[in-house]
Amino acid sequence: MGEPHAIVVGAGIGGLAAALALHRRGWRVTVLERAAAPRELGTGLTLMANALHGLDALGVGDPIRRQGVPDSPGGLRTADGRWLSRIDGAALERTLGTAALGIHRTALHRLLREALPASALVTGADVVDVDADLPAVTYRRNGTPTTLRADLVVGADGLHSVLRRRLWPDLPAPAYSGSTAWRAAIRWTAPVATAVTWGPGREFGTVPLGDGGLYWYAAETAPRGGHEPDELAAVRDRFGGWHEPIPALLAATPPEAVLRTDLFHLATPLPSYVRGRVALLGDAAHAMTPHLGQGAGQAIEDAVVLGAACAGGTDDLAGALAAYDRQRRPRSQAIARASARAARYGQQLRHPAAVALRDGVLRLTPARAALRAAARYADWRPPG
Ligand SMILES: Cc1cc2nc3c(=O)[nH]c(=O)nc-3n(C[C@H](O)[C@H](O)[C@H](O)COP(=O)(O)OP(=O)(O)OC[C@H]3O[C@@H](n4cnc5c(N)ncnc54)[C@H](O)[C@@H]3O)c2cc1C
Repeated sequence: MGEPHAIVVGAGIGGLAAALALHRRGWRVTVLERAAAPRELGTGLTLMANALHGLDALGVGDPIRRQGVPDSPGGLRTADGRWLSRIDGAALERTLGTAALGIHRTALHRLLREALPASALVTGADVVDVDADLPAVTYRRNGTPTTLRADLVVGADGLHSVLRRRLWPDLPAPAYSGSTAWRAAIRWTAPVATAVTWGPGREFGTVPLGDGGLYWYAAETAPRGGHEPDELAAVRDRFGGWHEPIPALLAATPPEAVLRTDLFHLATPLPSYVRGRVALLGDAAHAMTPHLGQGAGQAIEDAVVLGAACAGGTDDLAGALAAYDRQRRPRSQAIARASARAARYGQQLRHPAAVALRDGVLRLTPARAALRAAARYADWRPPG
């Protein structure tokens, strides 16, 4: 029997991780990416311990750690700078076996890409259709349609997944979460903790990155589709009066570095991540709000579990895909629900009495319980 062949649709973090997981299990992989050049939109990212254990299983954990900065966990603050809860970073690292990492998205994307054979990635390939039984995908490249068959198709085509729409046409489209976000990666060498600050209906977070960089993000409850002529000025209006170093970070941000994104999630969960010989993963399977910093982490977990399930090549592929669905759907959907909850009781909470109650509870929460909460979703190890 020849080498099993998988087509991966989408070269985001999830698609590249899946291609790498399958490649390491003896699969030939073809990654079809719509963009004309490999890229990762966005700025920085936190990789929680679960994501790093997944990357270790893919053989890229160490080079990725070298490009990032281990978390210096700070915790949660109010807009005037008072601490609501603090996380003991060393204890968290002991519990989880590794510290979380702040990293530039472009560095993570490049390292995943470089771990794959160069010939695996086909850019400018816009997938327009899929046949789950053959399985096969049809894509357009330079205006020419091509249908490609393989043994397995992996749908890693993100939030607005074409494969999800084709295979589950009745599933409602991703829903607006009620929040919009701004983010930027800037030059910043002074020490800053990995911390989150909450104000009514708003949140500001800081993540040190490798190489003298820092990533900040800000989110606000707002109607969808809002855009300002100067997004940095909009962030300064809302967050410029918050505690230091937030005003200083905004002062050091070039306007063109600011990216604004309305936050969507798959509010109606998929009934399965598998149809025929197509498996969905990452945002295509379970797009979640970023309030727990777990979207990419879940995509990496998916990839590792899919690779392990498909280690037998085409032998009992239906069984392998059923195992993938069984292992991944409950956990990733629970985390997606928890992310939406974290948004509701965190950044989106606006009523002064509710905010006061929440903040009071957080201040009274024992350190051990805060640690358990911080570790809850990051406590995952690859199969086997
Ligand atoms: C503001 C914000 C902050 C976040 N912070 C974090 C964080 O700190 N930690 C974390 O773990 N997660 C975070 N996330 C979530 C994380 O970014 C995503 O979950 C993750 O990037 C999803 O990866 P993916 O590969 O599934 O999808 P994507 O990154 O969307 O990749 C999909 C790829 O498929 C391609 N594609 C789409 N359609 C087609 C097609 N028809 N044909 C061919 N190619 C196609 C796209 O061009 C793209 O390259 C955050 C998200 C946001 C919005």
